[in-house]
Amino acid sequence: MKKLIIANWKMYYGPIKAGAWIRAFRRERLPKELDIAVAAPFVSLAAVRSSLGRASTPAIAAQNVFWAREGAFTGEVSPDMLLEFDTTYCLVGHSERRTHLGETDKMVAKKAKALQAAGISPVICVGETAAERKRGDATKVVRGQVREAMEGLKVDGRAPFVIAYEPIWSIGTGQPCSARQAKEMHDVIHEVIFKKFKVKCGEVRVIYGGSVEPRNISEYLNTVGIDGALVGGASLDPRSFGLLCRSAAPA
Ligand code: PEP
Repeated sequence: MKKLIIANWKMYYGPIKAGAWIRAFRRERLPKELDIAVAAPFVSLAAVRSSLGRASTPAIAAQNVFWAREGAFTGEVSPDMLLEFDTTYCLVGHSERRTHLGETDKMVAKKAKALQAAGISPVICVGETAAERKRGDATKVVRGQVREAMEGLKVDGRAPFVIAYEPIWSIGTGQPCSARQAKEMHDVIHEVIFKKFKVKCGEVRVIYGGSVEPRNISEYLNTVGIDGALVGGASLDPRSFGLLCRSAAPA
């Protein structure tokens, strides 16, 4: 399976800037050996879709979803609505949502299940805080998050789920988790996935996120068990994200 790099724009770029970003990024030389996606705010998905025209790279990702198909859920967006923009991936349980919006493991599991049922690949974000790591609880916390999120999932060829390991102490801090530390946790996550689905490492992608930049991406992607990256800050400039993608391609 190809390695996967997802740009997470977070709460940046409304439709006008989103369209400009896509046009600039499309001028970059992009490696064919990678799957590349961009996670845009809901309001920018239409602009991303139309700026892409017939191009399929980057694939379209959303940053959140609600689990019901439709109904009285003011302000929410369903998987079917995301499909109208050809959405391929959707982040769920990003630590910023868990921290600021009270998203729980149970909510994450419901969202992931609803996405997969609709044919969109959930990208489930998990990771420990600095305090949990300091206490020696990092592995326990992440195992629990992954187990609970996978509750209603299948190993589905149409909408394969992805796990994004994002140690919270490394997100947006410029303090990357070393490739060795990341690998230790990726091995744990692959083991939890194997226990439930009996699929080999490589069949379900586990990607890393946390202060990934053009200068360190290859360290992660050249590590066995790290199947891609979720990139926040370093994805905001389309040229530098293009450079990051080229630096990530296998040597
Ligand atoms: C993220 O938003 O998921 C992320 C990893 O951010 P950053 O790359 O800025 O640390």
